[in-house]
Amino acid sequence: MALYGRVERPECIACGLCQMLAPDLFDYDQAGIAYYKPDRNTGTKALDDQATIHFRLAYKRCPTHSIKRSDHPFDAEPYTPTKVE
Ligand code: SF4
Repeated sequence: MALYGRVERPECIACGLCQMLAPDLFDYDQAGIAYYKPDRNTGTKALDDQATIHFRLAYKRCPTHSIKRSDHPFDAEPYTPTKVE
């Protein structure tokens, strides 16, 4: 079964745990609020098997349950990260 993920950004408290556990999947903006990298947080790109392992780790550990998962693509607007270099 396909697995899709994204971050519900208003619920994120910027703890940084997901990025530490799954750096290929999660990054954060200037305020430390996380987003899901593979599809700009739209939740429309299915995870492959290896990514699924890392995703599940972050999903289980997120203290605010901001990381969402579904067996169907989400219908979310893309997030465009802006970072101070
Ligand atoms: S683990 Fe959860 S609360 Fe922490 S940065 Fe990631 S999404 Fe935000």
